[in-house]
This record gives sequence, C-alpha cells and structure tokens, in this order.
Amino acid sequence: MDELVFQEILLELGIGLPEFFTFLEGKVHRYPVKDFEWACFPKLDSQDRIIDICIIVPEFFDEQCIRINIHEYAHAFELFNELGQVYVENKDVREQNAKEKELEFLRLRLKKN
Ligand SMILES: [Zn+2]
Repeated sequence: MDELVFQEILLELGIGLPEFFTFLEGKVHRYPVKDFEWACFPKLDSQDRIIDICIIVPEFFDEQCIRINIHEYAHAFELFNELGQVYVENKDVREQNAKEKELEFLRLRLKKN
C-alpha cells in the first residue's frame, strides 16, 4: 500500500490533518517485519510536556499490519492534539480510542466490499 492511500484511510477515520502528516515526517519508523514491539510514544521535556512523537509500525503486508498502523497513528494523532500539554498516560482510555479506530476501519471495509 502506498503511503498516500494509507493517509486517505486515516482521514476517513478522522485521524489526521495535513499538518499532522507533515509533522510526522521522519518520525515514523516502519519496519519490514510482521512481529515487533509496535508502539507510539511521546517525547517529553523536563516538565513532562509533550514535545515530540515517535511511531514504530510494520510495513503494509496485510490487513493485520494496516490495523496496527491505524492503531499507532490513532495514538499519535491524540498526542499531536496534546502537544505542549503535560502528558497524562491514561492508558485504558488511549487503548480504547485506538481500538475503536481499528473497528471503524473494519466496518468501512465491509461497507465497501
Ligand atoms: Zn495501543
């Protein structure tokens, strides 16, 4: 899958803005393997404010890999909207939000097929 096609999917899911994709340039580490510790994490300053974001995702081998990408980008977009604010981990809520985007992706897929 092409990066631009993937961005269109993200936009359909309400993840992202042009400036979000520009911001992420050089911050996405996409590896050509299917198994890894996939992640999205903020970089914080000395006062725990979010100053940067890093994403580690797989290449688009299959639907599962696309879902992982959507999941991590959903986390990233949330953090992007919190740039400059003090980071609150809030793990359960963040996981729930990212999983919801994965499910939305599957629902959209079903509608199109
Ligand atoms: Zn997650």
